[in-house]
Amino acid sequence: MHTLFISDLHLSHVRPEINRQFFTFMQDIASRADVLYVLGDLFEYWAGDDDLADPFNDRICAAFAKLRESNTKLFVMHGNRDFLMAETFAQRCGAELLADPTLVNLYGTSTLLMHGDTLCTDDVKYQAFRAQVRSADWQQSFLAQPLTARKATIEKLREESALEMRGKTAMIMDVAEPSVLQVLRDNNYPRLIHGHTHRPAMHLHHLNGHKCERWVLNDWYQRGGYLRCDDAGCRAIML
Ligand code: MN
Repeated sequence: MHTLFISDLHLSHVRPEINRQFFTFMQDIASRADVLYVLGDLFEYWAGDDDLADPFNDRICAAFAKLRESNTKLFVMHGNRDFLMAETFAQRCGAELLADPTLVNLYGTSTLLMHGDTLCTDDVKYQAFRAQVRSADWQQSFLAQPLTARKATIEKLREESALEMRGKTAMIMDVAEPSVLQVLRDNNYPRLIHGHTHRPAMHLHHLNGHKCERWVLNDWYQRGGYLRCDDAGCRAIML
């Protein structure tokens, strides 16, 4: 029995080598797991479920749907890039969408799953943007636009965000320690698994007599990798 975690694959047409790694991972590794969790930013961006008509997106969904044959359960959480993935996407891929955060019992260890962007509370501007684009009103009016218009808006937002990131310090874009400690306290001192920051590591947080592991998943920009957990614990494996 084992469970795998991946995040921040940022899949897109422009990284064929990573896409190859992804399809090999799905076929040879994910299919052997009991459960696969995707903790956000599977796609570089997601403009809406009608973009499943894109052959590239359809291929990715088909690779997920194939997990049914090996009885591997699939859970997908939204990231900051692909939060518009909805029920049509989930059904097509055979996935269950997960709320952020979600607390699970992982082989006897209480484990909190997050994408990670909500922990980056020092980035006040990003948190304001996040609140806006996660509101039902914003999403309704955005999704009412034609797909091409939505894609153009996203491209523009991405250019602006890339420019802005140059002006932000590495500290601001990492998780804020007080926010991490807060979620650990609020959830009765679980193990925490998240992605988003692209700073893969295992941190140990000592607080109130508890020792909490915090696993940060790797991104797939240069190379794929995953976290494998079983009843003996978790370990990070690069492809
Ligand atoms: Mn992210």
